Amino acid sequence: MLRCHGEDDIEVLDPSGGWLERWHHRFAAQGIRHLRSPAVHHPHPDPFALLAGSGDNDLVRAGQANLPTTTAFARFIAAVVGTLGLETAVTPARATRLDLDLEGVASVTGSDAVVRRPERVVLATNARRPVVPAALRAWTRHPCVAVGDAADVRRTPPGGEVLIVGGGISAGHLALGATARVARVTLVSRRRLEVRRYDTHPTWLGPRKLRPFAAEPDPERRRRMIDQARGGGSMPHWMRRGLEQATEDGALRLRQRRTITAVETRGDRLAVSLDDDTTTEVDTLWCATGGELDAATDPLCAALRDLAPTPIARGLPELDAALRWPGTEVHLVGAAAGLLLGPTAGNLVGHRRAAQRIAAAVRGEDPLRADRLTTGAGACPATADQRASSTTRGA
Ligand SMILES: Cc1cc2nc3c(=O)[nH]c(=O)nc-3n(C[C@H](O)[C@H](O)[C@H](O)COP(=O)(O)OP(=O)(O)OC[C@H]3O[C@@H](n4cnc5c(N)ncnc54)[C@H](O)[C@@H]3O)c2cc1C
Repeated sequence: MLRCHGEDDIEVLDPSGGWLERWHHRFAAQGIRHLRSPAVHHPHPDPFALLAGSGDNDLVRAGQANLPTTTAFARFIAAVVGTLGLETAVTPARATRLDLDLEGVASVTGSDAVVRRPERVVLATNARRPVVPAALRAWTRHPCVAVGDAADVRRTPPGGEVLIVGGGISAGHLALGATARVARVTLVSRRRLEVRRYDTHPTWLGPRKLRPFAAEPDPERRRRMIDQARGGGSMPHWMRRGLEQATEDGALRLRQRRTITAVETRGDRLAVSLDDDTTTEVDTLWCATGGELDAATDPLCAALRDLAPTPIARGLPELDAALRWPGTEVHLVGAAAGLLLGPTAGNLVGHRRAAQRIAAAVRGEDPLRADRLTTGAGACPATADQRASSTTRGA
């Protein structure tokens, strides 16, 4: 978005050294074949940019929406990065420290020991810590236990037994991926599996929900609104059907409204006990129970907290309209901007809104006016050219 608006001097720090490496890794690890969000949601400012270059095999129909395949999405991102000349913008380094001067301008130290002093900094680290059920906390380092992103369906033990904890889309992908690799799977979810097409209801993409949210002065109340809108984990109906089919085929045991009470080793296997007094022996245990951000403990936010205190509502900081930590030139995007952008802040659509606001602030314009949700405010000229030579299809 910033490059689309003429910003040339952009450096991205990411230890992976590439674009969307964590995204690609997660999608491969969970064997995800298509996105959950429609094809108008992606990092480019023009919502129709992906559809414009898509063929029939690039999209999966779900209700009224077209969902991009994982391959088509990756190809689109690579094309945008190439068109905008951003291939070499990522420096393979981790931001290890952020300091502030008296004007609120930040300097960022990288794992390459270089200290950078840009005009402004955008923190897009998605610094979630996995939420691990109490009975599993002592086991997170055990070789048979994988938590969050470490759960990798490609490491399914051939013909072995896997226990997956969680009831959201990640747990569902892992379960279906492991059964496809001929593992026997037990899926343990503390609630009944909840079926929803998107993780947040689409009304949150329009003014009906977002206006009252933005008008609420109390950050704690906005925080509660986010929790209520997102609920716990959920999965689309096609995934639920797939799990039912796997259950009928005898490949999956679905244990809903159950929690783990104890884990112990038995030889090189794990014995996992549930609160119905049953015990299951497995080769591997994958924990897909989500994660949480906490700006109150995130080390990269330490100087921000000390020198420019702002309310933090259960992990989420109160920011200004340009998503700046108030009194500084440090913007936060992704789920960390939830108190301003609402429950979809951490999704692709939230990232686009964040980028629209920051690009407006860079231009000296009103960030609120720039945040027009899914309208194509400020479409990039490069894509306008691409569209002229291809057919645009509605989502
Ligand atoms: C399995 C899965 C499927 C999803 N599918 C969808 C979907 O279909 N549609 C949708 O809208 N959303 C989806 N989401 C939500 C998705 O996570 C977001 O849309 C998107 O990945 C969030 O991007 P992000 O940049 O905030 O975080 P991430 O993608 O997690 O990227 C954070 C980046 O920050 C880097 N980083 C972290 N710390 C530092 C540091 N100190 N210094 C430098 N770099 C650092 C990391 O290396 C990483 O590259 C999905 C999430 C998951 C887990």
